[in-house]
Amino acid sequence: MTEGVVSRAAGVAVLAPTGRDASLATQVFAQWGIEAAMFSDMRALCAALADDDVGAIIVAEEALQPAPRDELLAALEAQPAWSDVPVIVLTGEGELSRSIAGAVDSVARRGNVTLLERPVRVATLVTVVRSALRARQRQYDVRDNLAALRDARAEAEEARAEAEAASRAKSEFLAVMSHELRTPLNAIAGYAELIELGIHGPVTEAQREALRRVQRSERHLLGLINGVLNYARVETGNVQYDPTDVPVAEAFASAEALVAPQAKARGLHLEIEPCDPGIAIRADREKVQQILLNLLSNAIKFTGEGGRVTMGCSVDTGDVLIRVADSGRGIPPSKRNVIFEPFVQVDSRLTRADQGVGLGLAISRDLARGMGGELTVESEVGVGSTFTLCLPRA
Ligand code: ADP
Repeated sequence: MTEGVVSRAAGVAVLAPTGRDASLATQVFAQWGIEAAMFSDMRALCAALADDDVGAIIVAEEALQPAPRDELLAALEAQPAWSDVPVIVLTGEGELSRSIAGAVDSVARRGNVTLLERPVRVATLVTVVRSALRARQRQYDVRDNLAALRDARAEAEEARAEAEAASRAKSEFLAVMSHELRTPLNAIAGYAELIELGIHGPVTEAQREALRRVQRSERHLLGLINGVLNYARVETGNVQYDPTDVPVAEAFASAEALVAPQAKARGLHLEIEPCDPGIAIRADREKVQQILLNLLSNAIKFTGEGGRVTMGCSVDTGDVLIRVADSGRGIPPSKRNVIFEPFVQVDSRLTRADQGVGLGLAISRDLARGMGGELTVESEVGVGSTFTLCLPRA
């Protein structure tokens, strides 16, 4: 008698308590090209089932005594979700024309059972076993697909974690670098100022002009570095929010005071629509100011002389919508999403002169989201753009 393991879905596990049965069964199945493994007791057969190594089970009714039957039922119940192993039970002669015996019935109710009445014609047995093994192969396919799916999910999860770590490392690097760059810049600014003040001797007009250029460049560079530092802080989650109730009219007034000279210098109409004093947002005052300044400066920067920049607010259920609109050059549809990515500019040639680096909107959107809000844009090329900042109403 060979007691062992059935290979994948190819084999059938036969519980053959006597050596004679076993050798007969082995011969029959071998003739039909079906791989079979013989088990002399139920426990060994159930252990093979637990290892996913059983394509189908054949047991005789008389083998379903209470103890082995319970072992079989427990093993059938312990199968994983994909598995429902076919069980072929050989009943006694004339059995099926009478009522089904209790032991057989309990297995039939809880398993994927086919009853065959003895004497069974070999062709019938072979056909039933083959279709059971085919059905089992389908179950193995489902199991393999599930495993492949699990592996793919695990790989995707790992890749995501790696990408996040890389992004954090990049932001930390930016934060450290920009911080380090500010120190020598301060020295440049300081010494230029001392020279300009004549501390190191008289300064000619040509030297003064050169010093002004040094200072302008220093301020430009400092602005860029501050932008990078700011962005890196937001990205690494190192930003503290201090939410309070901020009346929108107040936020508008202070933003207007800061950008009005810029608008005037560019010959633009800046219009701040009156906002109901009762409308307030729940937000960090400084961060809101930073977003509004960025949106207004952009609107001014990208709108030609004689154009119009407006800012207004409205209430939308639990939110307040703040709109900054301009009659400027607009943003092409393909760029409307990417302008919120860091370092993206629609036309880098034009904005370099305006001291931009492409971080303002990335920072603004992160800040808006950090306060439970959102920043979106609508635009038409040649007509203008409207940025909408949505924040929770206080
Ligand atoms: P920066 O202004 O420093 O370039 P931003 O992140 O604030 O960076 O803006 C990114 C880009 O989005 C700008 O370079 C510009 O191309 C486009 N943009 C932003 N605001 C406007 C606007 N109001 N009108 C037209 N284009 C705009």
